[in-house]
Amino acid sequence: MAGPGAYCFGDEERKEVMDVLSSGHLSRYGSDKDVGFQLKVYTFEQEFAEYCGTNHAIATSSGTGSLLISLLAMGIGYGDEVLLPGYTFVASIGSIIYTRATPVLVEVDESLTMDPADIEKKITKNTKAIMVVHMLGNPCKMHEILAIAKKHNLKVIEDACQAAGGTYRGKRLGSLGDMAAFSLNRYKNIAVGDGGVIVTSNKEYYERAYAIHDQGHTPNRSGKDTTGILVGLNFKMNELAGAVALAQRRKLDGMLETLRQKKKELKDRIADIPNMRFREINDEGECGTILTIIFDEKQKADSVCERLGSQTLSHSGWHVYSNMRQIMEHKTPVEGWSEPSRYAQKGDLPRTDDILSRSMNISIGVVDGGLGAAFGVNIHSSQKEIAAAASKFIEACKA
Ligand SMILES: *Cc1c(COP(=O)(O)O)cnc(C)c1O
Repeated sequence: MAGPGAYCFGDEERKEVMDVLSSGHLSRYGSDKDVGFQLKVYTFEQEFAEYCGTNHAIATSSGTGSLLISLLAMGIGYGDEVLLPGYTFVASIGSIIYTRATPVLVEVDESLTMDPADIEKKITKNTKAIMVVHMLGNPCKMHEILAIAKKHNLKVIEDACQAAGGTYRGKRLGSLGDMAAFSLNRYKNIAVGDGGVIVTSNKEYYERAYAIHDQGHTPNRSGKDTTGILVGLNFKMNELAGAVALAQRRKLDGMLETLRQKKKELKDRIADIPNMRFREINDEGECGTILTIIFDEKQKADSVCERLGSQTLSHSGWHVYSNMRQIMEHKTPVEGWSEPSRYAQKGDLPRTDDILSRSMNISIGVVDGGLGAAFGVNIHSSQKEIAAAASKFIEACKA
């Protein structure tokens, strides 16, 4: 079980890692006096920012840390409300709670991303930000969402953890909101074990985020006075992870191209099956990592999943708000961190509940039972294997 990045480790990653080990410097600052220092994390940040079309990038220790840092960098905290979809990963909600703000859940539509029509219903005088999630690699309806954010003066943070390399209307995901967070864990498009990246074009947010991620230092600990901007913590990426990230980033476009091709092949083979449709794709620039089927009837979805050894998205663990017991029961480490009265309860998002109960994920590049994508193919699957998966799916639908 892994994502496309981890399926594609090769000589490129090995070379970058060996550079680091041979240099002897495993932390991002290495030694400025040693010409052998490799600057992998720094170089990855430069290349990733350029790739995303943003002014800045900060490599971190995780996607979750990247979300938390970004929220704090934008000044989100106690008393604030942050809107986000009820179908995401638990880390999106957890990061909001750890700033002590209150997560307020919004419905998803048949794209399985945030439904713009539900956003305005959830806005109050305390709403400060919208956290959009490009779920399963599908870009959110950013045009509508950004217009709502502008109208209500809300900040936008993109949880792009599942969507590195995707585009929306020609712009790279991560470059559309005020800040964005990516995950580089083993299920994601770029895999380094554990790691993350933040991107932004806002200089103030960049400097604040950098300080939060590195004990209050200035970016790259440069300048006359490198300390004292803010109280920070440590979420730094190390050079070994940076080395792998660098090699993986250079493969990203090629991997996504392969996935989109394989997804199309599978899609074409099953497109004529009655009583089901594919989820709505908000832009051709989606990542192609997952093929999501939405059946007309829950019963049908359940029976097809059972025959294929899979489960509907209602059962995809901590990706569904109502399965997150720790959130539903407000089990924050310290009581009173945010306003539990505003948290969603089971059943609060009827449209989301309904869609997820009828939906099934087929893996194309992200093979992950936890995401409901235990059945399907992977980035190396041959045409024959894709045809076999399609036949199996068609049989399961007939029975
Ligand atoms: C993976 C993921 C995260 C968290 O990333 P980590 O690197 O595991 O901390 C956050 N949000 C979403 C939508 C994710 O898929």
